[in-house]
Amino acid sequence: MMHVDRKAVISKDRAERIAKGHACEHCGEYSYKKLTVKPSTPSQRKELKEAWHAAKVCGVCGLEQEMGIDAEGEVLYVN
Ligand SMILES: [Zn+2]
Repeated sequence: MMHVDRKAVISKDRAERIAKGHACEHCGEYSYKKLTVKPSTPSQRKELKEAWHAAKVCGVCGLEQEMGIDAEGEVLYVN
């Protein structure tokens, strides 16, 4: 789809869309009352190859989830 060139990292906007497009692990809804996307810390970047770190609070069940997104927009983990 896109050509991966050295350290091309997806934009924050795109990372936010990916985070929003991932359903709540608990109730399967896509409604978030809070969603923040921040650049990963150097250790997250090094250990997890994470480019963006998202924190979300489900608008339906209130579950708090953290999500790692890599430079190409792949979801690395949700917890
Ligand atoms: Zn939920």
